[in-house]
Amino acid sequence: GATIGILGGGQLGRMLSVAASRLGFKTCVFEPGGDCPASHVSNFHFKAAYDDEEALRRFAKAVDVVTYEFENIPTAALDLIESLVPVRPGREALRVSQDRLTEKDFLSGLGLTTAPYAAVTTQEDLEAAIEKIGLPAILKTRRFGYDGKGQARIMQAGDAAAALEDMAGQEAILEGFVDFSHEVSVIGARSAWGDVACFDPGGNVHEGGILRTTTVPARLSTAQRTDAVLMAGKILNALDYVGVMGVELFVTPQGLVVNEIAPRVHNSGHWTQQGCTVDQFEQHIRAVAGWPLGDGSRYADVVMENLIGEDMEKVPGIAEERDASLHLYGKADVKPGRKMGHVNRIIRQG
Ligand code: ATP
Ligand code: MG
Ligand code: MG
Repeated sequence: GATIGILGGGQLGRMLSVAASRLGFKTCVFEPGGDCPASHVSNFHFKAAYDDEEALRRFAKAVDVVTYEFENIPTAALDLIESLVPVRPGREALRVSQDRLTEKDFLSGLGLTTAPYAAVTTQEDLEAAIEKIGLPAILKTRRFGYDGKGQARIMQAGDAAAALEDMAGQEAILEGFVDFSHEVSVIGARSAWGDVACFDPGGNVHEGGILRTTTVPARLSTAQRTDAVLMAGKILNALDYVGVMGVELFVTPQGLVVNEIAPRVHNSGHWTQQGCTVDQFEQHIRAVAGWPLGDGSRYADVVMENLIGEDMEKVPGIAEERDASLHLYGKADVKPGRKMGHVNRIIRQG
């Protein structure tokens, strides 16, 4: 059978690996860190740095197609891999989503609503941006941010200077604060020949910038649900995308606002493991392997809860719960804010 290469060895790579193996594929994980969650369940593991050309070359030659579980793959590494083996999703999705400014330009270029935004490098830029956008606002690093890291809320003009100093010279973007009632996300998929299928939108609750729970069905009207799915489809088609993507949305009285996109399987799609015949991980592997998309329709109501840091203490209790499916990532050290696992709770009717 074919071998699927996965860049990144975290929990997303681990669950992609399991899904691939269930479909009869072998997996080969490229991850600089040693004892990583994906290496426990993959067939092969390249433990090497992204600037190790020799290792990248051997990795690319050992696999039939390459996918990834994170969007910050160094450009030079990607160039090399791409010259030897197909990479799915393709380059354009990475280029667009690696930089919040490029991402916002792309999304607004498609006619989708985003928060008002402006690029910020200097204190003068920041002052001009605040003038244009108003307060409150959020200053975010353009690159490498996740789980709310690299972000600062600016409530009043006096907070601005310190917020930019905290970015330590990194390029930033100022976003107007979106007054949303709640957050939802769409996990969409597109096959190699352009079929699109979206999972039912989920409602997301964040705590301290980190996803806490996802609930399906989300609180959305039929019109909003349709809108959310159409927006995801538009994005997937515009990128000629192959694979699964997460699209984060804010729900406001004026309509849906796109927050960000992730060119990969997404934490807010973990509920699909217990809510659908074909979950987001299998859907991604299917697309990447050139298979038709599977049936991702939802047959259960589910609440997904992330197990973060000390939440691991709850595991023995959860293990005794009815209707609870545990997914643990096999990470050795518990650290505050670290995603250790998640639990999917099926909500029975009546
Ligand atoms: P992720 O782990 O999802 O990649 P991230 O670090 O890329 O997170 P964002 O998704 O941009 O960060 O922001 C994290 C959370 O902060 C959002 O889910 C939302 O709750 C809040 N937030 C971000 N941008 C805005 C905004 N412009 N207006 C209001 N709230 C915002
Ligand atoms: Mg993000
Ligand atoms: Mg986000």
